[in-house]
Amino acid sequence: MNYDRLIRRSILGITHYEPGKPIEEVQRELGIDDVIKLASNENPLGPSPRAVEAAEKLLAEAHIYPDGGAYRLKEALAADLGVEKDELIIGNGSDEVIKLLAEAFFQPEDEVIVADPTFGEYAYATQLMGARLVKVKGEGLGHDLERMAAAVTERTKAVFICNPNNPTGTMNNRGEFENFLRRIPERVLVILDQAYFEYVEAPDYPNGIDYRHDGRVLTLRTFSKIHGLAGFRIGYGVGAKELVGYLNRVREPFNVNRFAQEAALAALTDTEHIQRSRELNRAGKDQLYRAFETMGLDYLPSEANFILFATPYPARDLFKALQRRGVIVRPADIFGLPNHIRVTVGTPEQNQRFIRALQEVLAGWQGNQ
Ligand SMILES: *Cc1c(COP(=O)(O)O)cnc(C)c1O
Repeated sequence: MNYDRLIRRSILGITHYEPGKPIEEVQRELGIDDVIKLASNENPLGPSPRAVEAAEKLLAEAHIYPDGGAYRLKEALAADLGVEKDELIIGNGSDEVIKLLAEAFFQPEDEVIVADPTFGEYAYATQLMGARLVKVKGEGLGHDLERMAAAVTERTKAVFICNPNNPTGTMNNRGEFENFLRRIPERVLVILDQAYFEYVEAPDYPNGIDYRHDGRVLTLRTFSKIHGLAGFRIGYGVGAKELVGYLNRVREPFNVNRFAQEAALAALTDTEHIQRSRELNRAGKDQLYRAFETMGLDYLPSEANFILFATPYPARDLFKALQRRGVIVRPADIFGLPNHIRVTVGTPEQNQRFIRALQEVLAGWQGNQ
């Protein structure tokens, strides 16, 4: 069977997303038990215990459909964020909200602007709809909002801003963001991805939700990162009612499962878990910064729960050598950076294990460890 003539042409340019390796796979391949994963920006403390308890209680009711409108979660989120319920859309991860946006708005003649490097979902959703992806490199590795604004044309439908940016951990401040909004036309959508919002420490960090009345701005948040619920798949978008209404038109009626909704509801009020996660991350960043400095490796100070650092050898080879020592990280070649690695901030013990493995690998480097 030749599918070439059958397949939608826009699909041909899409390559399958390569996720961070699951721990079990590495254990199987290497025959070692003691493996740690610092590759997918997961919370090293695990989920909020309250969220686990809430989801467990529901297991016996698995035969009942979820609330498609996520009424209780929206009510809690609306109160927590100070927004209206109909300014919220809940997704099967914020990844789904990105896809809903593309399905509702992107057409083949459209251009969509992203930074380079940045999170891969924006390219995927753009290509899926057959729209044209415009990648804008900055002076450094972070978002250059001036250049991104300058890249806007008559055809531009949307701009994705990942803040803090994955994989660099860099941030754009309020002034830069507001200048950007002033520079771009009223007809261009601005998707502000704030997956790492809760980790940011910089005082001049813009809160996307403050701009929801500017009909262009859709802010994305997730329960996958600081709340530690990545396995449940739940995230959300905040924007103008009308914009959210269009996203709801393309949303599957039962897109977010009951367990995720209930877990998210519990996680939202578990301020102790959020606080502990934030403190652990702050201490872990310092621990890793010091280690990189000692090893003479360049790194980007991060506002998120991961750090991008430069490698003296091809990152893919270092990644494999670290993996043989039971430490899984993310080679940044998938982001177009063949000499960088992104490491998630772990517990102090996990960070130490990563540091020791990296020191060993670098000390004994002979090309193909
Ligand atoms: C992790 C991450 C997300 C979250 O995705 P979910 O689908 O909610 O798990 C979104 N955006 C960025 C930039 C991320 O790094």
